[in-house]
Amino acid sequence: MQAKPTGAAIRQDFIDFFVEHGHTFVPSSSLVPGGDSTLLFTNAGMVQFKDVFLGTDVRPYTRAVDSQKCLRVSGKHNDLDQVGRDNTHHTFFEMLGNWSFGDYYKKEAITWAWQLLTEVWKLPKDRIWATYFKDELDQIPEDLEAADIWLTQPGFDPNHLLPFGRKDNFWEMADTGPCGPDTEIHYDRGPEFCNMQGVPGHICGVNGDCERFLEIWNNVFIQYNRLSPTELVPLEKKHVDTGMGFERIVSILQDVPSNYKTDLFMPLIRRVQGLTGQSDAEREANLTPYRVIADHARATAFLIADGVVPGNIGRNYVCRMLVRRAARFGMKLDLHKPFMAEVAQVVIDEYGDFYPELKKNAPAILDNLTREEKQFQKTVNTGLEYLNELLADLKKSEQGVLDGALAFDLYATHGLPLEITRDIAQEQGLDVDTQGFQEAMEAHRLASGAGKEFGDMGGGDVEIYAQLVESLTASGKLDAKGVLYNPYKSVEGPGEVLALIREGQPVTAAAVGDPVEVLLPRTDFYVESGGQVSDTGQIVSANGKEWTIRVNGMRKPAAGVIVHLGEVVRGQPQVGDLAKAQVDTERRKAIMRNHTATHLLHAALHEVLGDHARQAGSLVAPDRLRFDFNHPQPMTREEILDVEARVNQAILANYPLHIVEKSLQEAIDEGAMALFGEKYGAEVRTITIGDEEVYSYELCGGTHVDETGDIGLFLITYEGSIAAGVRRIEAVTGWQAYELARERMNILDQTNHFLGTSPAETLPRVKSLTESLSAADKEIEKLRTQLVAGAFDEQLDSTEEIEGVPVLRIVLPNADMEALREMADKFRQKYPSGVALLASDLDGKPILLAVVTDDLVKRGLHAGNLVKQVAQVVGGGGGGRPTLAQAGGKDASKLAVALDQVPVYIKTNLK
Ligand SMILES: [Zn+2]
Ligand SMILES: [Zn+2]
Repeated sequence: MQAKPTGAAIRQDFIDFFVEHGHTFVPSSSLVPGGDSTLLFTNAGMVQFKDVFLGTDVRPYTRAVDSQKCLRVSGKHNDLDQVGRDNTHHTFFEMLGNWSFGDYYKKEAITWAWQLLTEVWKLPKDRIWATYFKDELDQIPEDLEAADIWLTQPGFDPNHLLPFGRKDNFWEMADTGPCGPDTEIHYDRGPEFCNMQGVPGHICGVNGDCERFLEIWNNVFIQYNRLSPTELVPLEKKHVDTGMGFERIVSILQDVPSNYKTDLFMPLIRRVQGLTGQSDAEREANLTPYRVIADHARATAFLIADGVVPGNIGRNYVCRMLVRRAARFGMKLDLHKPFMAEVAQVVIDEYGDFYPELKKNAPAILDNLTREEKQFQKTVNTGLEYLNELLADLKKSEQGVLDGALAFDLYATHGLPLEITRDIAQEQGLDVDTQGFQEAMEAHRLASGAGKEFGDMGGGDVEIYAQLVESLTASGKLDAKGVLYNPYKSVEGPGEVLALIREGQPVTAAAVGDPVEVLLPRTDFYVESGGQVSDTGQIVSANGKEWTIRVNGMRKPAAGVIVHLGEVVRGQPQVGDLAKAQVDTERRKAIMRNHTATHLLHAALHEVLGDHARQAGSLVAPDRLRFDFNHPQPMTREEILDVEARVNQAILANYPLHIVEKSLQEAIDEGAMALFGEKYGAEVRTITIGDEEVYSYELCGGTHVDETGDIGLFLITYEGSIAAGVRRIEAVTGWQAYELARERMNILDQTNHFLGTSPAETLPRVKSLTESLSAADKEIEKLRTQLVAGAFDEQLDSTEEIEGVPVLRIVLPNADMEALREMADKFRQKYPSGVALLASDLDGKPILLAVVTDDLVKRGLHAGNLVKQVAQVVGGGGGGRPTLAQAGGKDASKLAVALDQVPVYIKTNLK
């Protein structure tokens, strides 16, 4: 018998096949979509090529092949509930794809698919079925082109070609935009795979409801642009976008009945079995927990490798939820100690060759998993007990849905993510109000001051710019690649003003005060990317026409288009004028100092904290730099100073910077730090700092100083937390650092002058001054209490008789509530039966305390009601127990009048 191919070999077969057919292999992009704020996680192969289809990005290749890491745990594509309970659903999965960007089309795509399946992988032809698009509404043309191509494939059974409508065979990116028909390839696993045998009326079929036919590959033909629900226009450039579920094709080629029985999962499941010590039969009887743990171990290992550690909101919450959900399923297998790192180690071993980020970040993966499990274990038992009580109550009251706010409380207080609460509720035939949970979480997040997480996509004016570029390239005024962009080297010579855009419309001229976008054939203004802000400067007439446009920013509205955002400050610029663009060089130099400093900072953080301290975001502005990185706890003062010192040492070493362009693969093989969330083309720019000894090596498109000495000085101004597991450092360099140091020295100088000390004496002197001040404060407090007590002792006898009851009502100057309570005790000791209302004017605010002895409570008096009635006069309120109650107020000047309410209250209420 022929040995089964491994999953790794199958993945490689796919890539090799398409590389042989002229495709460029593109590594998987991060699970965190770069530059797409609408998406929580990369959920399809499409994500990293979306901008190419939208026309806002161009790539150096027109055919690509990839194996994309995907995660589906939230939003529309959410399979979490099924994960572990059936054979085919996963949170994390791999999507194999081949891509044509305006290159080949249906004929090649279908022919190659057939060849790969039947010739390379030798799948029996009579098991393969194909579907094509036929509009049930009869509005979009039937895809007879695809149908005909299928019928010409050698050995394809014409009876295996089936038409389907919009739901199955028409693909749309969104309500508008690129779209087109698709053809799906299904594989018939045979009647024994039907899991609905015996269900009356069931017939196995393609797109049916049993597990006999598996969809393995979808080929999408993007040929239209949807302008509105009824309007489709053909695209000039047609594209192919395909997706093959990797786990499914492996299950077919390895001839196993479940994705979980492939070598993609079995090593993980066996590791779990090693930990539980169960037999194979016991394992099969407990399949769900094994599958969930294997699935979640893959998902979390890949997430942490891409910089997403367990935390409280957004992506970090998902990572936390997956670890905890796996831990909870582990409890069903009697695993009560952290075990996920053990399983994740198998993920790293099995997948690390193809996805080197796993090996590179192995310590971070293992540490984060174990730490998260330990944290979960602290609260899980009380959480589960509480949940079971809630569910029992729910059943008693014959309700079926747990309140969302209670579910959120279970998470906030006991660390039980919604998904676990829901798992458990569903196991008992109940459900959870998910919407209510989300609302409570959102309210909590807003209350805690966190901002909104996802913004809009924007960019509605792509059309105008695309047209502009089309006509300008046609007339030869603009290079075929679009605006020539070189922010690294100053552009020589003037260029023609190709277009002026005002309020979204092209205009031929502009006047002083007009906001305009200026299109030039080339620019050396940096356009915001990778955290570095855009350049500013000015554009002036280069042929004596005396006009100036102040440039405040830059924008890239469509592929190949870069515009200067500005305002006319002098004269009347016109389209066709010769112009010279000048970057504000001082500002640019400050930006470059800060950018190079972030690279040094990144390297120093790795040295001091470890390799897990990876960049999670940055801002490089002229006046400061901001750097976010993964680290589980606050940095100590020593660590911060150590990092700062190392960066300054690197500055003083005056390392030269070497900037080289090379292929992405080469750079990563050499160990360059690639930043998650960034998009990289096939060619990347690498920045090496150092000579024989390399201090830092990163991929980066930003602008940098020539030598580190140019940075001058580096000072950290802030270190804090921005999310669970993510820290932020802010720092200044160059002139800003000098100004900061100068300002702090001035403050110190003035302080010393004032104290009459030298710098060495300042701190001890300030400390001793503070100490004597607080000692003096305590003394004053003591004296005040004594004074008040003295005054009270004198007045303790001055009770009056009201309705035969001794009543004391007095205002004590400067007594706090503590003092009033002491007074109340004294009153009770002296008068076994009586009423007291003690008031004080404490720094202009009235405070009140009422005392009623027990015997008088029985006769209808209540200290709370009494104090409330009195406090109303001073504009306040309060309350308390029947024997003792306190109140506050606003107007201390009315205290004397307020006390007149005491006899009124007693006369009214005493029985
Ligand atoms: Zn069936
Ligand atoms: Zn950089």
